[in-house]
Amino acid sequence: MLSFFRAFLDEGNESKQTVPKYFLIMNKILVTGGAGFIGSTLTEHLLKNPENFVVVVDNLSTGHIKKLVLPQQNFKFIKADANDRKELSEIMMSWKFDFVFHYAAVVGVQRTLANPLFVLNDVEGVKNVLELSKNTGVKRVIFSSSSEIYGEPVEYPQNEHTTPLNSRLPYAIVKNLAEAYLRAYKKEFDLDFTIFRFFNTYGPKQSRNFVISKFINHALKNEDIPVYGDGLQTRTFCFVEDNVKACISAFENDLFVNDVVNIGGDNEITILDLAREIIKLTGSSSKIVHLPALEEGDMRGRRPDTTKMKTLYNKPLITLQEGLRKVLEEGLFELKYQ
Ligand code: NAD
Repeated sequence: MLSFFRAFLDEGNESKQTVPKYFLIMNKILVTGGAGFIGSTLTEHLLKNPENFVVVVDNLSTGHIKKLVLPQQNFKFIKADANDRKELSEIMMSWKFDFVFHYAAVVGVQRTLANPLFVLNDVEGVKNVLELSKNTGVKRVIFSSSSEIYGEPVEYPQNEHTTPLNSRLPYAIVKNLAEAYLRAYKKEFDLDFTIFRFFNTYGPKQSRNFVISKFINHALKNEDIPVYGDGLQTRTFCFVEDNVKACISAFENDLFVNDVVNIGGDNEITILDLAREIIKLTGSSSKIVHLPALEEGDMRGRRPDTTKMKTLYNKPLITLQEGLRKVLEEGLFELKYQ
């Protein structure tokens, strides 16, 4: 898995193609979407290993540079759009990465429903990453897929191999197509991949469009907490540290290569109970208000089969109460910086 690389930098040239002077490192890793919630936490953990050099590529559409408070010596940030072949090509051709984590995507139920063409354009990013990885000797592409691709739960819990993928929403279609592209590049060009299907993940750096950050944000201001429909739809929630530790374990130990694994929490809770829990933990005087159910995109239930994930990370997962306390202790990123 190790590769040594030495490169030389023209002094003062700070273009996208430049690589550090006398650059002797082990793994050159690209993280697209690395200024986002999960990508920045992943980057932070990857950098704990001094054998890794991480380049983050992010267009800062929903990400924020301040999510990356990191040591400078084995890290570089480049603002660029993964969906733009020319921009990504300049970067990938010059750096010749060993591994790519492709986490950049348009996310969020409301945002993705409101902007279907924008979302569908993310297929370009997947194609760019795979074609350039094939052409530049990348050893493995690791992709953040989503539980959304299971759609309404046909089977409980949702299993990587037996549960049909039946969502028709653009966001889920992009993830499904991306998975097909990863398999096709393996078949035709022997490019290795790992697919992580993330279920709801939360943590202090998540943006406030997502349910836990949104509810905490309202609770801290004693504002009404809006719940769509009867609130009896269920989810599991995975604290971001558990997500990242499981993914890094797969990466470092070469597990689930050319395979797919669910990454998520395993305790289900209704959205109504989640709102009540947050009100209790924050000591808020917020009231829960019911809004009309969303017309699409709000699945009745979702729970991952975590049998495969547990082979990666066999410690008890952080409970929802513990995770919520951690978010409250650290404070929501958006309340601190935006
Ligand atoms: P996020 O919005 O915080 O992170 C996405 C990042 O990608 C942002 O920093 C954004 O600026 C960047 N980005 C978007 N389009 C880009 C482009 N074309 N080029 C370069 N950068 C671009 O969201 P997140 O929750 O951290 O999601 C990370 C990945 O995990 C996404 O692929 C998402 O689909 C997937 N995922 C997340 C969850 C979850 O619960 N958070 C669940 C399932 C899947």
